[in-house]
Amino acid sequence: MILPLPLGEGRGEGLRENDEIDIFLIFIFPKREYKNTRGGVYFVDPHPNPFPKGRGRKSPQSEVDMKACVLNSPQPVDDRPLEFTDAPDPEPAADEVLLRVRACGICRTDLHVVEGELPVRRTPVIPGHQIVGDIAGVGSEANGFELGQRAGVAWLHQTCGACKFCRSGRENLCERAEFTGWTKDGGYAEYITAPATFVYSLPDGFDDLMAAPLLCAGIIGYRALRLTGIEKEQWSGARLGIYGFGAAGHVVIQLARARGAEVYVCTRDRERHQALAAELGAEWVGGAKDEPPAKLDGSIIFAPAGELVPVALQALEKGGVLVLGGIHMSAIPTLEYSLIYGERTVRSVANNTRDDGREFLAEAASIPVRTHVQEFPLEDANEALIALKHDAIRGAGVLVV
Ligand SMILES: [Zn+2]
Ligand SMILES: [Zn+2]
Repeated sequence: MILPLPLGEGRGEGLRENDEIDIFLIFIFPKREYKNTRGGVYFVDPHPNPFPKGRGRKSPQSEVDMKACVLNSPQPVDDRPLEFTDAPDPEPAADEVLLRVRACGICRTDLHVVEGELPVRRTPVIPGHQIVGDIAGVGSEANGFELGQRAGVAWLHQTCGACKFCRSGRENLCERAEFTGWTKDGGYAEYITAPATFVYSLPDGFDDLMAAPLLCAGIIGYRALRLTGIEKEQWSGARLGIYGFGAAGHVVIQLARARGAEVYVCTRDRERHQALAAELGAEWVGGAKDEPPAKLDGSIIFAPAGELVPVALQALEKGGVLVLGGIHMSAIPTLEYSLIYGERTVRSVANNTRDDGREFLAEAASIPVRTHVQEFPLEDANEALIALKHDAIRGAGVLVV
């Protein structure tokens, strides 16, 4: 007789006295851990994942679909290149968490990915890097998050931790960094995975929609403010210039004013951007190329327009820093040396460190910053990006997932 005998269970049931046993078949099942997710359980295998981590997706055999806006190839956004479709549910690797996305902010960087101003790093790709969601799965080695907890994912998806930049507190410049919604799938989707150590816990006091724009517009704006070189004790009475007044600008003005600065805003669009800047307490509001009535101690250009660099330098006080806040900018025209003479500095902002993110979220909660958002359903991501491109969003655009 052959008796199947699962180890630790069924200890010989079915055996009768005097039965002779010829072969024992012993089955060993791995210890399994089940986690709750939508409509069922999520299985975290404590043993190595049989599927490669690379794309962080389920194998074709175990595919479960989610809805997502997928970019197959970059095109002008007016051609509506994002396809609202089914995509495989992502599965967290051991060091990752799975989030059920609730809201995802749209950013000008998404526009640069979709239109191909940034080189293609992943095809197809799901854009989006200002993600607020609930933890729906936790990898076996991921710490710090509980199922159901609200959390945020930002642009900096992961760094190597080993290069000279990572080792010197400058992980924003990592040689091998991964970026959410560019080199990794992002949040224009129902689900996303991210390394737990790069996921932010979010302060209470911001609902999901209001929190989303904090995760890039806010964090990058915060870093740009720091790079103006204006020190803590110098903020009171300092004059800050902001060129381009979208999602980042409308957060930065709130930080700067709370620190005691006077804010001068140069932006096109009287109805939306200029009106919002005035509402948020700008000292002066003018057109994109208008000259403010005072010299500015520091300025930030958020518009991706290189022609604003000489304009902003013209208005900058001696010793001031002009910070370029975008990942992409049109060509900067030739500069007269006199524009930078007087120890003026021009510098860019590249990404952010996790410390920037944590410090910013704490400061934003303490003020508190109030984001002005315009909602779009996930399936209207193309329309949202078209509105962003044509300056038709007041404050920040957010996809509701
Ligand atoms: Zn690195
Ligand atoms: Zn962004």
